[in-house]
Amino acid sequence: MSKLWLRRAVKLASYLCLYVVADGAALAHGDVAPWNAAAALSFGLVARLGPGWSWAALAAPVLAGALGGELWSGPGAVSVRAVAEAAACAGAALVLRPHGVERPDLGRLRTIFLLFVTTIAAAALIGAARAAVAGLDLWPAVELAGRLILAHMVAILTVAPLVVIRGLPRAWGPVRLTPSIEALLQVAALAILAWEVFGRFVNQEIHFFYLLFLPLAWIATRHGQPGAATALGALFAAPLASDWLFGHHDPAVIELQIRLGVLAMTSLLLGAMVSERRLSESRMLARQTELAHFQRLNVGWEMASALAHELNQPLTAAMNYTQAAQRLIAAPSPDLARAGAVMAKSVDQIERVGQTIHGLRDFMRKGELRLAANDLREMVEDALRLVSAEANAAGIGLHAVGLGALPPVMVDKTQIVQVLVNLARNAVQALAATGRGDNPTVLVSGRAVDGVVEVTVTDNGPGLAPQVLARLFEPFVTTKPAGMGLGLSISKSIVEAHDSRLWAENAAHGGATFHFTLPLAVVDA
Ligand code: ADP
Repeated sequence: MSKLWLRRAVKLASYLCLYVVADGAALAHGDVAPWNAAAALSFGLVARLGPGWSWAALAAPVLAGALGGELWSGPGAVSVRAVAEAAACAGAALVLRPHGVERPDLGRLRTIFLLFVTTIAAAALIGAARAAVAGLDLWPAVELAGRLILAHMVAILTVAPLVVIRGLPRAWGPVRLTPSIEALLQVAALAILAWEVFGRFVNQEIHFFYLLFLPLAWIATRHGQPGAATALGALFAAPLASDWLFGHHDPAVIELQIRLGVLAMTSLLLGAMVSERRLSESRMLARQTELAHFQRLNVGWEMASALAHELNQPLTAAMNYTQAAQRLIAAPSPDLARAGAVMAKSVDQIERVGQTIHGLRDFMRKGELRLAANDLREMVEDALRLVSAEANAAGIGLHAVGLGALPPVMVDKTQIVQVLVNLARNAVQALAATGRGDNPTVLVSGRAVDGVVEVTVTDNGPGLAPQVLARLFEPFVTTKPAGMGLGLSISKSIVEAHDSRLWAENAAHGGATFHFTLPLAVVDA
């Protein structure tokens, strides 16, 4: 059996087990199940995997019916319920997956509104169908339908998103085995308040319910939709646990369900708003990064073509002179005096090449600098923001320390940000190219020393390769397949244009460390 089929079989088996357990737990309350999560699981499964999985939603109630035995009101009722659930789930999945290919993105507000609409429709269909075959008179049947519709709505809103989302919030999930302190506090706050609200629910004490908005809003704003969905799923389990522990058949359950429904809708909307904002921020960052990359390449190409143009002529001339000298020397009666004169011309041309290169560097150095007093921390933040998309994608941490208390520096902000971007991106690329290792990190720090500010960019990557170390700041020195080898030479020119220094070393802990100084904006008298 292929891996895909195995995964599907595991998913299906877990779903069927959960369905049977949820259904059994709900039926333990009698005919009306106040917290029936079974249909909500089907809703989530079919929305996540596609309407093609509706057959599972059809099979699950039949299986649960067969296992539930005497609790069922007969095979007719089971069939009606199974068909109603499967049809409701298929319809909802068709609406929630308009293009039919991807699972619904609950991080979008539009999808959340569609979820609300499909939830109401699905709950109405399932509730009405089940009430219709319960064998009651008209008004008791209507009352039962109302209660079932409410119960299913709340269950779908709280349980289905957890089935649909892509995974737990990063801080909670298996990605980080040690959850952050904040995540622990969030779980604790949720657990304590859930206990306060649902544990005392047996005594009809549900006045503190609205306190639950606090941890849910906290979690949704910090973790977006995955956080909101996970917290809601956990919250749904709270009244179930309370039922099991204390047992009750309380009329206040309707009030509680309505409150939980409102809480679920608010949290899902909040989660989607946060997720949507984060998505647009990361898209903007990616675009900025692309732009920065393009600008960097552009500078490179401009410099390369200027160099090629400026150097081509004297180098061609030098080659011609050298070939002429070779011919003069190789002649049957060599004219060494003329050969020497021709070689001297060749040397002149090569000197011109050297002057051109120096001229270019001087141009870069003197190129208009717009000096102003600038805050180093702001520049570092700007630079790290430009590199963050690339770093995040590779799971690399970017950190800045010790920059807050530094005096302002007199620099051309754009150019120094460019230097920081070059150094940080090189570090990110070096870390990304060598696999993750332990906690891959790029650290930017600063200190005031001897009347200047010294900035340090260090990483815990592979360090500088011996073959580039000696010529690190020369143009076109690179170890990257698609590298141009211009970033460091341009950075050095920029730093030197500020009458400052840029140097590099391999750090004791193994990574590469770059330092550069910057002049202070106000020099002490
Ligand atoms: P490019 O990035 O196009 O290669 P650069 O001038 O920016 O050009 O870098 C030159 C070379 O210096 C890189 O190819 C790489 O080998 C080396 N290098 C720069 N920064 C680091 C770093 N943080 N860790 C390891 N090697 C580095």
